Amino acid sequence: MVHSEKQKLQKARAYFKFILAGLPKPVSTKYLTATEQDTWKQIIELRNTLLSIHDENSRILGLNVPEFKCFICNKPTIEDYKITKDGMTYNLCKKHFKEEWKN
Ligand SMILES: [Zn+2]
Repeated sequence: MVHSEKQKLQKARAYFKFILAGLPKPVSTKYLTATEQDTWKQIIELRNTLLSIHDENSRILGLNVPEFKCFICNKPTIEDYKITKDGMTYNLCKKHFKEEWKN
């Protein structure tokens, strides 16, 4: 199967986002010096910024990125299916939205 340039770009960017999102956060930073903790905090903040602008920048590159994605399975969804837990709002697909309401 031949991928178009756009598909390649989409795939590469999705992989980048996946790796970035999985960047491990140590359970404890108490073994780090104050300077190291400070730098680590900056890394996390920059990582979060990069994650938060990713979709918008994919759209700038002409990629088709759905506005809302399921927090659990990452499938495109609509704004209506969302839940609020511990003060955070999550978008869900229809399937996971229904499952959440059962719990
Ligand atoms: Zn889902």
